[in-house]
Amino acid sequence: MNAVAVAGRQPAGPVNVMSVDVEEHFHVAAFAGQVRREDWLSLPSRVERNTDRVLALFADRGVAATFFVLGWVAERHPALVRRIAERGHEVASHGYCHIPAFQQDRAEFAADVRRSKAILEDAAGRAVLGYRAASFSIVKRNQWAFEELDRAGYRYSSSVNPVRHDIYGFPDAPRFNFTPTGTALTECPVTTLEVGGNRIPCGGGGYFRLLPYPLFRWALRRVNAAGHSCYFYMHPWEVDPDQPRVAGAPLKSRFRHYTNLHRTDALRPAAGPCLTRDRAGWHRAGPWTPRGRVTGPPGTPSWRARRRPRPTTTIAGAGSWSAPSTCPRGTSWRATGRAASAACCRWCA
Ligand SMILES: [Zn+2]
Repeated sequence: MNAVAVAGRQPAGPVNVMSVDVEEHFHVAAFAGQVRREDWLSLPSRVERNTDRVLALFADRGVAATFFVLGWVAERHPALVRRIAERGHEVASHGYCHIPAFQQDRAEFAADVRRSKAILEDAAGRAVLGYRAASFSIVKRNQWAFEELDRAGYRYSSSVNPVRHDIYGFPDAPRFNFTPTGTALTECPVTTLEVGGNRIPCGGGGYFRLLPYPLFRWALRRVNAAGHSCYFYMHPWEVDPDQPRVAGAPLKSRFRHYTNLHRTDALRPAAGPCLTRDRAGWHRAGPWTPRGRVTGPPGTPSWRARRRPRPTTTIAGAGSWSAPSTCPRGTSWRATGRAASAACCRWCA
């Protein structure tokens, strides 16, 4: 995931990781009972405008982030994916059409993660190494998903929320980065704070809107003080308080989705406070990562202009990976990556 620090200055503590799950407001699991997938195309799209608002916020505050983009969104807004990449952010996968991993069988999941990876690589023009399951839906009973991600060529996942929750949650999972059994993958769980044996969710999303900000900030600082990075997530629809309301949604879903949207929206530069290091520990983008690797900060030439550089992704505290632009046999990963029968190595698979 993209963890980029202040140019020319090594951060004193752990580098926190900002991420955005790029989806429409009607894609969320909370409204699955009211909005049918076959109706998605007939609904007005707001994701491009909302993501541009997030990009403007990050540009203003120098935040580099990882954008987990839905394949469905990338197919309809490829220019948005390109824009995200060209502004120095990492493009990663949020699956194809937001079906929770635990609602898919193994073959369906494998096809979904490969399909979204291919779509995003075509749109972004660079290797996609990260994955986040819809609704943090890798849980205890479907850990085979890690093996499928590994086989599909992903290098890390951020699909576990190690808490108890009525929709998702893997409360037995480690709270910090771990390698799932039988894989070379790193799983980066969303941030929690443990107090008195209980895990308090403090990784973003609805929790960021519902908890008092001083409490949220205190929790993140406690995690940092223990030497760990924080993994924060948000959605483009969370900076859109005027989004159309879904009719007939249960009270619990409406509460989770609509409450305090103005709080995330208020993160926009024009509205005042935002995610700078002073408030939540996010670091300004610069030309180097904590491991000193150039990742393409804002203002650098585009991927095509730079003649296929080696895309690099760094997870704070979890090592770094470098996806070769050519596989060990010397074949372009873009040339072979689309045809399953032509896959000749793990980067091309
Ligand atoms: Zn999502």
